[in-house]
Amino acid sequence: MKRYVKYCSQYPCNKTAIPGTAYCDEHQKPRAKKEADAFYLSTRWRRFRSWYLSRHPLCEMCQADGRLEPAVMVDHVVEIKDGGALTDEGNAQSLCRLCHQRKTADEKQKRHKQISSVILGS
Ligand SMILES: [Zn+2]
Ligand SMILES: [Zn+2]
Repeated sequence: MKRYVKYCSQYPCNKTAIPGTAYCDEHQKPRAKKEADAFYLSTRWRRFRSWYLSRHPLCEMCQADGRLEPAVMVDHVVEIKDGGALTDEGNAQSLCRLCHQRKTADEKQKRHKQISSVILGS
């Protein structure tokens, strides 16, 4: 057993905590994540989302690849829990379902890589 391995403080999670913090990847900044979840249910977000979609009706990732795909959701470029602006046109992008799924999968992988390199580097 390696001594420096700590476990997540979020009961009843038994994942390894990220070195230097008390929580695992999933439970980092639990309060910020809660606030982000609440924000997505707010009127402010719903208004912004429909306003943004009316201005950007096509998926912006598909458009960059030369495809015309209607967007079904508005996504934050920098996630709220990472400190991104809430209702800033510059921090939003229209996405189709497929691109949103792809982006979410990419981000999970990226986070995983970051954590692996922290552990390997210590
Ligand atoms: Zn945890
Ligand atoms: Zn797309």
